[in-house]
Amino acid sequence: MIPGPIEFEPSVLRAAGSATNSHVAPDFIETFGHSLDMMKEVWQCPSGQPFVLAGSGTLAMDTAAANLIERGDQALVISTGYFGDRFADILARYGAVVKVLKSPVGGVVDTDLIEAELKINQYKLLTFTHVDTSTAVKVDPRPIGQLGKKYGVITILDGVCSVAGEEIRQEEWGIDVVLTASQKAIGVPPGLALLVVSPKAMNVWKNRTSPVGSYYSDWTNWLLIMNAYADRKPSYFGTPAVNLVAALEVSLQLILKEGLEARFARHKNTGAAFRSGLKALNIKQIPLSDEIASNTLSAPWFPDGIQNQNFLSSVSANGVILAGGLLPEIKGKYFRIGHMGSVNQGDILSTMGAIEAGLASCGYSFTKGAGINAAFASLNAF
Ligand code: PMP
Repeated sequence: MIPGPIEFEPSVLRAAGSATNSHVAPDFIETFGHSLDMMKEVWQCPSGQPFVLAGSGTLAMDTAAANLIERGDQALVISTGYFGDRFADILARYGAVVKVLKSPVGGVVDTDLIEAELKINQYKLLTFTHVDTSTAVKVDPRPIGQLGKKYGVITILDGVCSVAGEEIRQEEWGIDVVLTASQKAIGVPPGLALLVVSPKAMNVWKNRTSPVGSYYSDWTNWLLIMNAYADRKPSYFGTPAVNLVAALEVSLQLILKEGLEARFARHKNTGAAFRSGLKALNIKQIPLSDEIASNTLSAPWFPDGIQNQNFLSSVSANGVILAGGLLPEIKGKYFRIGHMGSVNQGDILSTMGAIEAGLASCGYSFTKGAGINAAFASLNAF
């Protein structure tokens, strides 16, 4: 139950483990093309340009920056944790003049502050992290999409910890780039960087006056390949991660079979159940309110006197693996529970049980069973 890599469906793993195909075999071309079609559905962006590259989520961020930034462009980063700060570094590497609007730990940046900043400076793009995996803080993409339209700024959503878990309507909400990695709510082993790019952002890229600063990521190379697969034709630039793309097709099919609305609702219920369980144990969480708490992971503070390693080892001895803190300024003071993808009621209750066992072994005083009962009641509000 860490926030990625998550546990994968057996059918996805079987696809990943099947005999490796040629990247120009007719059935692989169909698999790739079908995956590109389904990405537009899952991202809810029918006019978008999907990209599937071999690499991790950081490559997806790097690709967006490399293709959309030219030296001297102004970029605004809205940071709600570790991954916002990473985006600032990446943008600066490609020559952007970067301004970071940083939230307090557990909070979000006020929309008015973002608008005030957009009024002062001519930004080319802004980035924000939908769910920051270091804080479990969720940002509402809607007002940011509207600001992007109003001020003619390209909006980039880091959805590594949200796509296929939290609600995203890329086209309707006017977000120009939504990027993710395969190993989280998309449900495919690590190794794919996935992006869907709006026609507006593709135009900005087409009108560049300088070459893209990364050879591998340059959309000049990849657009032809994506178009070829979409048209069910063979092509080659760099060998695709054939087995992972086979797994991606299966996972996207499972996501669409569940239905996006049902999947978002399931994640909402799961997030609410964990929050209820933790509250019943008197454990505070990093997000300052439930409205900005993510549904794909939870980030609880350790109660006074509980030590990171003792607690996590004890939870693990009870059969559940959780993650430690990530945000440097508070690293040892909190832990993280991932609950995205195919998490069911049994996983939630056994995780709450292991957390209770860990707390008990560390000498924390609480009513035994309170967390499990509250999570169960939240899941079954009958
Ligand atoms: N953004 C967010 C929100 C993430 O959670 C992560 C990974 N945890 C990344 C970016 C970077 O992805 P990767 O580790 O796959 O490079």
